[in-house]
Amino acid sequence: MKIPTELIPKCPVCGKPMTMNLRCDNSFVQDEGWYEAHSRYERFIRNNANSRVLFLELGVGANTPVIIKYPFWQMTKVNSKATYACINYGEAFCPAEISEQSICINEDIGKVIAELK
Ligand SMILES: [Zn+2]
Repeated sequence: MKIPTELIPKCPVCGKPMTMNLRCDNSFVQDEGWYEAHSRYERFIRNNANSRVLFLELGVGANTPVIIKYPFWQMTKVNSKATYACINYGEAFCPAEISEQSICINEDIGKVIAELK
């Protein structure tokens, strides 16, 4: 689980190592591009509220479940045509209320996707 240091991307401005954009501290970037993407997502959700939708959740843990996990569960609950799919090694589960509409796979994501091919 180690990678060569030279493969870690660096910030083009200050040269520090790049990191993922997570809501874990005050460095979360919520700029114009973020708001545009958020609008596209909201529009898709609104336009497909009663459609056959697959809410595919890959590796979402319990750190910030209000961002993806809980909304996916709620949108699955209110749309009988929706399916919730969760692939997560060690944390694949769903509430009993949506178990009939859910596929929870407790496995390594890379392995599952390779097996889908
Ligand atoms: Zn920087």
